[in-house]
This record gives sequence, C-alpha cells and structure tokens, in this order.
Amino acid sequence: MSLDGGLQGEGYFLTRLDDLAQLVRTNSLWFLTFGLACCAVEMIHAASSRYDLDRFGVMPRASPRQADLMIVAGTLTNKMARALRKIYDQMAEPRYVISMGSCANGGGYYHYSYSVVRGCDRILPVDIYVPGCPPTAEALIYGILQLQNRVRRDGLLARGEIQRG
Ligand code: SF4
Repeated sequence: MSLDGGLQGEGYFLTRLDDLAQLVRTNSLWFLTFGLACCAVEMIHAASSRYDLDRFGVMPRASPRQADLMIVAGTLTNKMARALRKIYDQMAEPRYVISMGSCANGGGYYHYSYSVVRGCDRILPVDIYVPGCPPTAEALIYGILQLQNRVRRDGLLARGEIQRG
C-alpha cells in the first residue's frame, strides 16, 4: 500500500482518506472460522504459532458481528447450507469469503453425493478460491494475501456495488 502523501513537517502526514481506510481495512481482516471438515485443521495451522496469521492483522473471531472475512474450510452439506448463509448475512460489511479446499470449491470427493453442496459459491459470493485437498497452511496464507490485494484494489464504495448488486 502506498500512501501518496508524505511528511509535511514534524508530526504531520498528508494522505487521502481513501488510502488510509484501505490500509486499515486491508490489514485488519478478522475472519470468522467456518471449519466444516478436515480443511479446518490447516486453517487452524495457519492461525497457530508456526505461521501466525496475526502478523497480517488477520485474526479469528467467534462472532459474525465482529468478522469481515469468512473462510469456508471443508465440506458443505445441504443441511449446513442454510446456517452458512444465515451467519454470512450477520457479518459486517464489507465482507469477504475465501473458499478453502476442493470440497468448498466444488464438492471435492463428494461432488456426486446427494448430501453435499457442489461448491459454497452456490450459497455465498466467493472472492478467493484456494485449491487443494487439503490446501496447505501456506496455500491459505497465499489466498489471504491475494484477498488483501483485492481489498486494496477495490475502492471504498465499489465493494457494495460490485458484490451485492
Ligand atoms: S478438500 Fe479434502 S481435506 Fe478439505 S474438507 Fe474436503 S476432503 Fe477434507
């Protein structure tokens, strides 16, 4: 993130409000954990001490009211789909979704099962897909970095118009 302003004298910094807001938003993606199956273990791995997602300002939250990122980690069943959508609707705007792993991306091994949703993007708008079964913690972090690039690119007002229109 480049702040186009600069030091204008001791203790002063001049920048655009848009740039400042994007800087804060990009570096404070608080994620609602939605661990549905084995992929959740890699998500936990990414958040734990070895990879330490906190250093990117990405922290787990237990309440959708405090979260602006949902990581769908695992197999989404038809039975769970309604709950997934309900929790998503309770999250703060602007909100983002990462689909983690083959199951969340398209049903994975269970693509032809009667009970599995063939991709969580049938229920939610997904911003980033992380491939793999399971994706490694590093892959998830790469996906989060890609999401940060996207958040940076989106204007302050563009988000709602593009995603919820
Ligand atoms: S993608 Fe693989 S590791 Fe992830 S939930 Fe599905 S079966 Fe498990």
